[in-house]
Amino acid sequence: MANRAPTFSLQRIIFLAVSLVVCVQVGWWINVQIRESRRLLEARTQALFASRAEAWQMDSLSILAFIHANPDPSSRSGAIEGRYVPLPDLRQRRDAIHRRFPHVAVVLAPITSQDLPLLDGRAFLTLRPEPLIELQNQRWHSVFRAASEGAFMVAAVLLGFVVMYRKLEEELDLKLRQRNFTSAVTHELKTPIASLQVWTETLFTRSLGEEQRLRVRGLMEKDLARLRELVGNLLDVARAESGSLVLHLAPLELEPWLRGVCEAMDERLGPGQLGLKLEFGPDPLWVNADPKALGTVLENLLSNAFKYASEPRQTTVTLDGDGDDALIVVSDLGHGLAPKDLPRVFHRFFRVGDEMTRQVAGTGLGLFLVKEIVTRHGGDARATSRGVGLGSAFTIRLPRIARPADQPADAPAGEAADA
Ligand code: ADP
Repeated sequence: MANRAPTFSLQRIIFLAVSLVVCVQVGWWINVQIRESRRLLEARTQALFASRAEAWQMDSLSILAFIHANPDPSSRSGAIEGRYVPLPDLRQRRDAIHRRFPHVAVVLAPITSQDLPLLDGRAFLTLRPEPLIELQNQRWHSVFRAASEGAFMVAAVLLGFVVMYRKLEEELDLKLRQRNFTSAVTHELKTPIASLQVWTETLFTRSLGEEQRLRVRGLMEKDLARLRELVGNLLDVARAESGSLVLHLAPLELEPWLRGVCEAMDERLGPGQLGLKLEFGPDPLWVNADPKALGTVLENLLSNAFKYASEPRQTTVTLDGDGDDALIVVSDLGHGLAPKDLPRVFHRFFRVGDEMTRQVAGTGLGLFLVKEIVTRHGGDARATSRGVGLGSAFTIRLPRIARPADQPADAPAGEAADA
């Protein structure tokens, strides 16, 4: 393809910069989620440890209140170390602790180094392991969730970007092709118009012999045909795009019709110039088709076989059945197509960037129209090539229909060939 305009590169740079910013934002979001969940779990762990300290405080206060209510007569200070003070029942205290702090357990021996001894030294306060394990699990769970949500987001964002980038590429490519198309159409219109102007002036300013006049007439007709083809293609493309391309479908026997179109095209492009060879299968093949529209398809394919091949040309048109379909293949031994261009040749305005083909006049609309018309017939158009310089083949696949009851087996092709 031709060089991209600087604005296109700018658009790409902006797009990549925006993608980068969004990716950084997503990374930052994941980081915040993980940090937040860690902070939350740390706070809950601390709250658990705080509940153990609270339990110790509650129990100590209940002991002190008990001593205050039952002072030891032998102790002046009223301290609890005196053996004589009957201490409150440990089981009741443990139940009270358990009721108020379900995660705190009273044990006779410390389980961890942080376990608090009760004020009277008869037992220790520890945290039950379940809530700690549960918190640890929750932590892993939330880290895993944040990581998987983040991964999903990153994947979704990346997928979105890939899709958007592809769309952007397509848009840019289309813009570029459109620009090429505008200059190609301008050229395509200017050339025959300029040529017609020259011939008109020649006819009116010089006295020409009969033979010369006939020659000029032939050349003018060629220019007019070129203009007619271009305008026809432009109109058909406009109709196809607006959905107003109306097809008048009717049963059509392919062989006689195809023979007629090929002969007419051969005549138009210069008899024998195509090096045309027709190969038809043994069975008569019928399709439901609009002969005029299908004629545009064949004309475009044959015109391409003419344009993109050097003399002496060898063009083969084959017709054969393939199961429920009829296949028309137009093949040439011309410039051929690179594998990367094969799926793109049917795109609107697409022209191969190879200088060899670029020197040939064209608008990049012919094959787009071919595909549109064939698809509207319920068929399919495909391009194949063994490579650049090795020729190409265009296959048109159309659904077959049975021979109409009112058509005898050996019906002459008259009506169909009129197309
Ligand atoms: P145009 O011929 O007006 O450029 P088309 O849509 O008919 O537009 O073809 C699109 C492009 O496909 C052509 O520009 C040419 O590069 C390539 N192409 C089409 N037919 C052939 C062929 N038979 N051999 C090689 N290249 C072809």
